[in-house]
Amino acid sequence: MTAPRKPRIALYPGTFDPVTLGHLDIFRRACNLFDRLVIGVAINRDKGPLFTLEERVAMIREVTAPLCTATGTTIDVHPFENLLIECAHDVGADVIIRGLRAVSDFEYEFQMVGMNRALDPRIETVFLMADAQYQAIASRLVKEIARLGGDVGRFVPEPVAAALKAKFSG
Ligand code: ADP
Repeated sequence: MTAPRKPRIALYPGTFDPVTLGHLDIFRRACNLFDRLVIGVAINRDKGPLFTLEERVAMIREVTAPLCTATGTTIDVHPFENLLIECAHDVGADVIIRGLRAVSDFEYEFQMVGMNRALDPRIETVFLMADAQYQAIASRLVKEIARLGGDVGRFVPEPVAAALKAKFSG
């Protein structure tokens, strides 16, 4: 008799400042592959995020709720400030998910995999690509467009568009 397969847990870390339709597409793909998805929200004080940690977490929870229902996958949102590998240990993840966009992401991600592998070779990093229509979306550019009064409705979920509008209208 073979032992029952242990649940596969994936950790998808990021700043999510704010969460975009690109991130959401990666969440959906990860839900189809893993039993449990932990979205690790990096506090990232150095990056001077526009949204507080609490706001970023609340937005992710809101926009992922329908995904949990649709896929039956458990999604947890987990803020972290320690090393990524330590966070993976804390949540019991065997896989780290990263999204890949253009070639420009590659260099940084390549180095990250090397360093993380040196710290713990048991944890694999898996790269997922968003659907073509979402590949160009970046939180940094979304914030820039919103700051200048542009329409970000095609790039972020509705509650995030409303939150961006509120941030920049004050
Ligand atoms: P970080 O500070 O870790 O770059 P981000 O929130 O900007 O945090 O991104 C988190 C992850 O999601 C990264 O792996 C990034 O490459 C990926 N990502 C961001 N936007 C997209 C997108 N439009 N398509 C695919 N992956 C994306």
